[in-house]
This record gives sequence, structure tokens and C-alpha cells, in this order.
Amino acid sequence: MKKVVKFGGSSLASAEQFEKVGKIVKSDKHRVYVVPSAPGKRYDGDTKVTDMLYATYALASEKKPFDKELNAIKSRYQEIIDGLKLKTSLDDEFKTIADNFANAVGSDYAASRGEYLNGILMAAYLGYDFIDAATVIFFKEDGTLDSKKTQQVLSETLKEHPKAVVPGFYGALPDGSVHTFSRGGSDITGSLVAKACKADVYENWTDVSGFMVADPRIIPNPESIETITYRELRELAYMGAGVLHEEAIFPVRKEGIPINIRNTNAPEDEGTWIVESTCQKSKYVITGIAGKKGFCAINIEKDRMNSEIGFGRKVLQAFEEQDISFEHVPSGIDTMTIFVHQSEFAQKEQKVLAGIHKLAEPDYIDMETDLALIAVVGRGMKSTRGTAGRIFSALAHANVNVKMIDQGSSELNIIIGVKNEDFEAAIRAIYTIFVDTQL
Ligand code: ADP
Ligand code: ASP
Ligand code: MG
Repeated sequence: MKKVVKFGGSSLASAEQFEKVGKIVKSDKHRVYVVPSAPGKRYDGDTKVTDMLYATYALASEKKPFDKELNAIKSRYQEIIDGLKLKTSLDDEFKTIADNFANAVGSDYAASRGEYLNGILMAAYLGYDFIDAATVIFFKEDGTLDSKKTQQVLSETLKEHPKAVVPGFYGALPDGSVHTFSRGGSDITGSLVAKACKADVYENWTDVSGFMVADPRIIPNPESIETITYRELRELAYMGAGVLHEEAIFPVRKEGIPINIRNTNAPEDEGTWIVESTCQKSKYVITGIAGKKGFCAINIEKDRMNSEIGFGRKVLQAFEEQDISFEHVPSGIDTMTIFVHQSEFAQKEQKVLAGIHKLAEPDYIDMETDLALIAVVGRGMKSTRGTAGRIFSALAHANVNVKMIDQGSSELNIIIGVKNEDFEAAIRAIYTIFVDTQL
């Protein structure tokens, strides 16, 4: 039996947190591979080491002095070293980092040092081997993961190290330079390590007792989800439920390795199990709710649109030509609406509109900005009638105007469009109708 354990930034923000992590790892001999993030926030208003590194590197790349800022980062680690009474010194590491910053090696290298240094400390603290992720995680020239090479080298390397720490978030490009995943990417490293060593479980330790039915920053003390499928999780993660990086499920999913989300501050809690499939019914009709703000809807009208073959393709081509991906495309007989990310669309708006006019010759186009999309996800919805109706009436009672409602063809989710300002009220109304009133 082998377990891979990934600890997020808040789980490793201080010596005290390291001690909790040490206890968790040592309490189960199967926890053989540890993937740490960089130290996160110690308290509200604190800064994550990753953000400090980006800011310090920005100074270095503008040839401005950065000693003070780099020293502040060094003290974050020194605080951990002192608190744990470790003999490790990071002096030489910080000299190398300062030189590399001065030589402008790149912001990915800079950001990666957060997990690299934390990995060195974690390995020293646990008495595990340290494996630099740049020697086992590989990216292709275009920055996408080289899964084949990673799997090959990582699995071979792990065989030589029965117990090891592999820092999260980064790897190497073909020329050897450091490259990172997108933010929150240590979750992906953990998943790759779990796949490579054929782990029995991938434990992802964070600061909440599992995946909650809704974002705890919107719903105070929401219910935890006991079991969720990969597909449900993917829908929720994509729509902003930030607990787990949306790409983190792919490596383990193919291998049938379950993910267990756990709380470093409450290790006795069972957390959430993320599995391929389950016959366990979720407690409520819905499994979870998540959403994102900042969308724009482009409404297009044309008489007899439905009988014009290729109309949809022409409209979407106008977006493709400007390199804009769309989020949702609900349609009626003579209307079609395209939801896009406002921030992506804003600079290219006029070019896209011109493209639609030229390619599809619509009668009328209008736009609505500042919209939010909410996904209500649940494997139980397929076998339950009236879910959409219930959502509608809950929103009507909360005085939320529904701009769009779209049921995915998998019947796994219902997407609702509302104004940005109604976002929180809408989530609260949906949560209440399904969870609090247990309908
Ligand atoms: P880590 O640093 O451990 O990787 P993250 O900050 O990435 O942790 O993810 C955990 C956070 O995700 C929680 O503290 C919580 O604020 C947020 N979150 C958003 N949606 C949810 C949800 N549905 N369930 C639980 N946590 C959520
Ligand atoms: N430290 C990185 C970040 O803040 C990666 C991670 O935490 O997973 O995004
Ligand atoms: Mg995270």
C-alpha cells in the first residue's frame, strides 16, 4: 500500500503547520511520497511566498534593487527552520537564487523556488530523500506537460527512493530551464507522482475538511461532500470551486486512483473522496454548486436561423479567428447567444462583431456584460424530476433575474446565467432550497 500526500500552502505556512504535517505523515507508514507547495498565508492579509517571489522577480527584471524583498522571503523560511530546530541552512541556495534573479532567468524559475526550498526543508524535517521536480517532471517546448517522458522518468526515479519529497508546481522544459504549471499547480504534481508510483490513494491536504457543497466564502459552514465523481468534480472545479486544480484529476483518473481531500487542521475528519464512479447516492439531489463572475453574452438574431445550415459555424468562426474560446452557446429558433470571458473578449470585441457581420450576416446583435455563470452539478439530477423548476422558483423568490438556463446533455449539470451582482444571492438561494430545506 502506497499513499501520496500533497500539502497546500496554508498547511505549510509556518513551523507550527510543518509540525502538524509531520505528525500526519508519520502516523501512517504508507505515506511515502510527499508533495509540498510553497508556504502560504499564515493569517488573513498575509502574502503567499509564491506572490512574494513573483513581485521580487519583477523588480529584478527591471534592474531595480531586490535585496530587501528577497530577504523577506528568506526570513519566511528561516522562521520555519528555527521553529523546527533544523540544522539545514539555505544560505547557499539564496545566493544562487539572487544571482539567477540578477541574470533574469525567468519568472517561472523565480516562482518555482517557493516549492523547491520548502521541499528541501520538508525532506530534512521528515528524513525523506529530496527529488528536484526539474529532474522528473517534463514539459514540451510549447509549455504543455510531456506526460510520457514524465511518467517514464518519474516512475524509474521513485523506485530508487522508497520515501521522498517532490516539490510541487514546476518541472523542466526540453532545454532544462524551469517551467511551472498554472497557479495552484502543485495539485497536478501530486497527481503525477501518484500515477507514477501506482499509489493506492492520492491524499490532498488543505485547509478545509473536504470539498463543500458550495464555496465556504459564500455559504458559511457549508456541508462537506462525502463522495464525488471525477466528472462532477471537473464541472465544479472548472466553474471555480478552487479546492483542487482542474487539471489534477487527469493523471489519477485513468489509473483509477481515488483522491481524498483532507484537512491538515482537522486530520480526524474523513474529508471528501473523489472516485471514478460510485453507487453511493449523494445526500441531496445536487452534489455541488460553483460559479464564476465576469462573462459577457453576445445575442445574435436572424430570421429563420434554424433552417440556415452552417449559421452556428460561421458565428463561432468569428470567435475562433480572434482566438477566443466560448463558454456556453444556448440557442432558440431565431436566436443564438454566446457566453465568453469578458476579460478575453473586451480587447477584441469590435473585430469579433465585424467578423460575425461579415460571415453570418445576422439581423441584429446585442451584448450584455457583467454576467456570472453558476453550475449546479449532481449525478442524482438525472433520476430526479423538476430540478430546473426548483432552481427557477428559488431564484424567483430571491428576486434574482435569470438570464439563461442551460442543461448539459449529460444531465450532470445545469448552468445558470445571472448578473454579477446577483451571484452570491443566487448561490445562497440554490443552496438553501436543496440543502437547508432538504428537498
Ligand atoms: P491549498 O493551498 O491547500 O492548495 P486552496 O486555497 O487551493 O488550498 O483550496 C482550498 C480553498 O478552496 C478553501 O480554503 C476554500 O476557501 C476554497 N473553496 C472554494 N470552493 C470550495 C468548495 N466548494 N469547497 C471547499 N473549499 C472551497
Ligand atoms: N505555490 C503555487 C501557487 O501559489 C502552486 C500551488 O500552491 O499549488 O499557485
Ligand atoms: Mg490549491
